[in-house]
Amino acid sequence: MIRVRFAPSPTGNLHIGGARTALFNWLYARAKDGKFILRIEDTDQHRSRKEYLDEILQSLSWLGFNWDEIYFQIQRLDIYRAYAQRLLKDGRAYLAASQQTEEGSSQPLQEAIVFRVHPQRVRINDLIHGQIEFDTSVIKDQVLIKSDGTPTYNFACVVDDATMQITHVIRGDDHISNTPKQILLYKALGFRIPEFAHLPLILSKSGGRLSKRTGATAISQFRQMGFLPEALVNYLLLLGWSPGENREIIDIKEAARLFDITNANKTAATFDMDKINWINNQYIKGYSIEKLVDLLMPMLRQRFPRTQSYYSDRQKLQGLVKLYQGRINTLGDLLEWADFFFTDEINVDPAAAQRYLSQDLSSEFSLFLERIEKLEHFEVATIEKAFRELIVELNISSRQLIHPIRVALTGKTVGPGLFDVIFYLGKEVTRIRLSRWIKKGS
Ligand code: GLU
Repeated sequence: MIRVRFAPSPTGNLHIGGARTALFNWLYARAKDGKFILRIEDTDQHRSRKEYLDEILQSLSWLGFNWDEIYFQIQRLDIYRAYAQRLLKDGRAYLAASQQTEEGSSQPLQEAIVFRVHPQRVRINDLIHGQIEFDTSVIKDQVLIKSDGTPTYNFACVVDDATMQITHVIRGDDHISNTPKQILLYKALGFRIPEFAHLPLILSKSGGRLSKRTGATAISQFRQMGFLPEALVNYLLLLGWSPGENREIIDIKEAARLFDITNANKTAATFDMDKINWINNQYIKGYSIEKLVDLLMPMLRQRFPRTQSYYSDRQKLQGLVKLYQGRINTLGDLLEWADFFFTDEINVDPAAAQRYLSQDLSSEFSLFLERIEKLEHFEVATIEKAFRELIVELNISSRQLIHPIRVALTGKTVGPGLFDVIFYLGKEVTRIRLSRWIKKGS
């Protein structure tokens, strides 16, 4: 049975890189009917935080990476110590007086347990990179248990991977240099060596490492921005694997059928915000309006707490969301682009006002208002009809009036169809906003 693990340290949020590692492990387990194990590497008590742990667990659940087993290293200290004792007894390790004194530490420091490295040839057949040979003569003796009694990463990792019967270690390329150190430990302990698969790095568009500015954004932040989990998972998948035939949109169930760790990409991936936006747009288009409204409702309430009319009238909100479904990349875009529906204080873009509202349109606006006030059935089609008739009477082109009305009502030059906008704003708001541009006495 295939057993893989994702082993985050709760010393920071779950970012794109970690999430991709989690995905590849989870997907491999799903593809091969194996088990996906979550191991929290929390032995660094100074840097580990409960809020990071919560954030990591929530993000993994949101992405749908459900785990079959979960372990916390901090609960396994006795196990690491027992294996270190065994190496001591076998003469493979020795005690070393601690050099470091931890400032402010009240714990009595014990002697560290150090592994004696015997240089030897270490070779692995990495499932992604193929044969890799390591020169272990440069590896110094390795601390196994630190003077504060906690294990080092490499030691805990090996003891855990072996005792948790991990068959495939799938992790980022940044851990490649740890692999030979770990293999020496596997050998000394007589453990079976698992398969290794190191995923190529994810670079920013400019070629450097991902930083906050270039997209190393926490998964929870993507969620807040209004990305859909399926879209994010689809994107993470493309950061290291391709379904072939230039396909970019792939359902996770289908991916699980086609995926194998041996056909993961060998070269570094590039994080591309435009691509992730495009993918999210595709998924938003595929979502039902019902589902989108469910997701948007709490976001809208939080951002525009006072707009009760939309929250109590679900049908109205559905219609409005439909106007934007095809054009938004994220749910956050809707909050921004459709803000004028939800707030009285609209921000009028000054350049747009200069361009479309600097001439006096008092009489045109008044005439238009009169017509729509009189409408018995206030609907998109009747609003449009009233507008078209007015244009003919005034003998002007529709563009001469459409843009100014749009800017006056929405503050923006682009958006959904004007008659839809007027319909969803309602007679009252339309009157208030157009009246602002009507000079008294006209
Ligand atoms: N805690 C390590 C990390 O977050 C795990 C590395 C591994 O998968 O072995 O990078």
